Amino acid sequence: MLHDASILIYDGRIEQVGKGSGSSADVEIDGRGKIALPGLINAHTHLSMSLFRGYADDMVLQDWLQKKIWPLEAKLTGEACYQGALLGSAEMIMSGTTTFMDMYFHMEEVAKAVNQAGLRAILSYGIIDLFDPAKAKVEQKKSEEIFNFVRELNSPRIRFALGPHAPYTCSSDTLLWAKEFAEKNNVLIHIHIAETRKEQADSQKQHGCRIVEYLDKIGALSKKMVGAHCVWLTKSEVSLLGKSGVSVTHCPVSNMKLASGGVAPLPEMFDAGIAVSLGTDGAASNNTLDMFETMKVCALLHKAHRWDPTVLNAQKVLDLATIEGARALGMEREIGSIEAGKRADIILLDANLPNLNPIYGPDTVISDLVYSASSGNVNTTIVDGKVLMANRQLKTIDLGKSLASAQEIANKLSRG
Ligand SMILES: [Zn+2]
Repeated sequence: MLHDASILIYDGRIEQVGKGSGSSADVEIDGRGKIALPGLINAHTHLSMSLFRGYADDMVLQDWLQKKIWPLEAKLTGEACYQGALLGSAEMIMSGTTTFMDMYFHMEEVAKAVNQAGLRAILSYGIIDLFDPAKAKVEQKKSEEIFNFVRELNSPRIRFALGPHAPYTCSSDTLLWAKEFAEKNNVLIHIHIAETRKEQADSQKQHGCRIVEYLDKIGALSKKMVGAHCVWLTKSEVSLLGKSGVSVTHCPVSNMKLASGGVAPLPEMFDAGIAVSLGTDGAASNNTLDMFETMKVCALLHKAHRWDPTVLNAQKVLDLATIEGARALGMEREIGSIEAGKRADIILLDANLPNLNPIYGPDTVISDLVYSASSGNVNTTIVDGKVLMANRQLKTIDLGKSLASAQEIANKLSRG
């Protein structure tokens, strides 16, 4: 960690990081009284679900999905998803997230919103074939269309990933198709794995084995795979994920709110060499996209669960949201730290606020960032060298307009 340092950015890249004021530049941002951090990485969300924030809470998962969320999702249009993605982008910029991985529908519209917002993203269309071969073909084709759309969009910040929703909603044919497509086109596979205990019980009934064992048996595990949740796993499943090079996205707030019951076995995942990232999940089950909150809850959850305050320290949690998150997404050479040669994804936190004072010294700053900081401290957000927010003013999104549009859509959706 550097004190009194400067960061030189050129052409979207970090050129130099050093002590002192550095060389002069065309544009200068005064960092006095601020803490610079690599932009946070939210490795699992459903951005457009920001529209459903607060619509249905405190319900059992299946009721929540079947009675509330799915009927509303059936009414979503491309325009609604665009507005939902813009609202979510505004929230991420304002809470210090610079890169995220998404899974949802109407992804062309999401890509347009994210491109406008200026965030870095990996976008996947959620494939659900429900074991119907005809539907599988349609869903695979839809994914290929989004793949082509993102390629033609030609944004250096936006990438495509395949999004087979989960082993319980996608056939083995689709999972194997995804693996082949991902390897051929060098893209990630974004999937939900073992979020609830029921999924494991169903897998035992349907396949005679546990979920990760099933994925291994059919040959679907891959270095390209990023599994969200991974809550209900045995040690041997963790070991299988490690051996196969699968990355994990831990979503502690969503797991606690939906009362998934278990706690993802993070220490065992670290021992198995798994790259673990953090995610918020969608705003319908969180209900924010706030990675500062997710970091703190992550640390507290594991301490409480293991009766061990040393099980996950502040530095490790910050790593999960930055450099380890980048590694989980195969982007550690580009983002995740403030180093010369990396893309300039940087946030500045205002340290002149009560919740970050006093500061005892460099050693305690990391603790301050995880346990005391909040999204309200984020003052400036920079992605690919471009300032998306300065002094808490958004530069790429008209916040008033975005809030009004989201409210209008919410009114329409709830009227039926
Ligand atoms: Zn999810």
